[in-house]
Amino acid sequence: MRASFRLGRIVGVPVGVNWSVLVIFALIWWGLSANLFPESYPDRSVIAYLLAGLTAAVVFFLGLLAHEVSHAVVAKRNGLGVQGITLWLFGGVAELRGEARSPGAELRISGIGPLVSLIIGVFFGAIAMLLALAGVQGLLLGVMAWLGGINLLLAVFNILPAAPLDGGRLLRAAVWKATGDRTRATVVAARAGWVLGLALIGFGLWRFLSGTGVGGLWLALIGWFLIGAATMEERQARVGDALRGIRVADVMTPQPQTASGELTVADFVDNYLFAYRHTALPLIEDGRPVGLVTLDRVRGVPSGERGSTTLAAVACRADDLVLASPDEPLTDLLPRLSDCADGRALVVTDGRLVGIVSPSDISRAVQRSSMRDQLTTGR
Ligand SMILES: [Zn+2]
Repeated sequence: MRASFRLGRIVGVPVGVNWSVLVIFALIWWGLSANLFPESYPDRSVIAYLLAGLTAAVVFFLGLLAHEVSHAVVAKRNGLGVQGITLWLFGGVAELRGEARSPGAELRISGIGPLVSLIIGVFFGAIAMLLALAGVQGLLLGVMAWLGGINLLLAVFNILPAAPLDGGRLLRAAVWKATGDRTRATVVAARAGWVLGLALIGFGLWRFLSGTGVGGLWLALIGWFLIGAATMEERQARVGDALRGIRVADVMTPQPQTASGELTVADFVDNYLFAYRHTALPLIEDGRPVGLVTLDRVRGVPSGERGSTTLAAVACRADDLVLASPDEPLTDLLPRLSDCADGRALVVTDGRLVGIVSPSDISRAVQRSSMRDQLTTGR
């Protein structure tokens, strides 16, 4: 999930939000201040409803952030890097670099999120209960009760044993522990994701069609997302299985041809294009990669503007480059490959470019390794 804008860093991890978070934020704010609060606590001013709704929505997102930050902190403690945290349409994601190294690490990293949501839910629930006992019956009680309920719901939903939910990772940790086979564990969790996704779609559509709630459509949408994510996790697990033991240096093209970002697109087309057999060109400044130009990006420049457009202007920028080290397992790199560079990664040692990995390098490695498996097992 790509962040549309950055909020800053928490515990060293970049935190961003995707624009789609505004949709869910607006839905929550509107749902609370136009429906729930006026129905439960009538005869307040519009401003009071709006403020109460806004407070609840903001604190809800802070709770979501705390959930993701807890995943990030525990992942770091267990030796994993964290790419970033992004809030979006279906909540939050903490993007980890690589995979947990043991079922125990998986359990800790995945378990902490729902636990934090549970604690937040109990905290606000307890405040609501104290307020009610003290005879406070206003909007404040409404906000606290809603925050308590929604965080408990978040904890319960996330613990459902189906990928890509936290509960799916807990299921994976359990199957992994029991069988010693991580790939099989991922496949089990992914299949459970399919089942839950289908169930949510079925239940959501039934609710919607029987007229009991537009919220049914939302459930169906979440189910659709779960199926897509579970499918991708299963595919990644199978590719990862084929690539186990292979390092970035084993598949990369060493010392690729490079260019300066000041070169114009016309220079590139005239002098490089036909002599060059690759479809991506790293841009270098003092030996350090500062960008990456792909043929698709060059092709997008109208021929009349090629003489005045520099390669730097059409390149994937330094911030968006995917960097890898030669010793890194290839399976750690795969989840990081981004759209910006068309799935390519630059391999660096001490900041200096030493190679490039392209999608065809990776598919070749997958083919070779499945051939190797067939040869050794006689399948
Ligand atoms: Zn989580």
